[in-house]
Amino acid sequence: MNIVIFGPPGAGKGTQSNYIANKFQLHKLSTGDLLRKEIKDQTKLGNEISSIINSGNLVSDQIVSDLIEKYISNPIYKSRLIFDGYPRNLSQAKNLNSLLTKCDQKIDIVLKLSVSLKTIKKRISERKNLEKRADDNEVIAVKRYQMYEKNINPIVDFYKETNLLKVVNGETSISKISDEISRLIEGIKG
Ligand code: AMP
Repeated sequence: MNIVIFGPPGAGKGTQSNYIANKFQLHKLSTGDLLRKEIKDQTKLGNEISSIINSGNLVSDQIVSDLIEKYISNPIYKSRLIFDGYPRNLSQAKNLNSLLTKCDQKIDIVLKLSVSLKTIKKRISERKNLEKRADDNEVIAVKRYQMYEKNINPIVDFYKETNLLKVVNGETSISKISDEISRLIEGIKG
């Protein structure tokens, strides 16, 4: 089973995908985590992208596609991936479908965490103290939220067409959201 989870920055994607990965024995593939690791390790790529990420912009489609392709094409992860933070726009959504098809895989469910800007601002200010991320301040958070809102509708329509999309209320508690997500995943497992 492959799962896509998306939602605005601070929606709890990371927390929920860790939970799902544990419960359903999947591998969490967070493009944000992979990119932050490149920056931390001061690789050539990391040095190129740090200012883009810290200012709240998206890195190029090609960069993230190359990162995820390594996992999709690795038999260890075959049909065991949860995509957190990918796709971020329609062309990434289409690219993900073709990478998966090429490796004889598919997406089984797409979870959209729905959270208001008011809640996001509150969560980002709490996370700022815990994770010390350079892109967690209110101005950048609002910018990232607006970019998410701008890009999300075509992705939502794309997945609605194939009946894969499930919207989850991300305003409630972590455990309630996890329960709802589990119920949805159990539902597709039959
Ligand atoms: P995240 O941890 O998912 O909030 O991602 C943190 C940052 O990494 C984003 O604001 C982007 O700069 C970059 N990033 C993560 N995923 C993608 C993606 N799929 N496409 C482009 N940029 C991305």
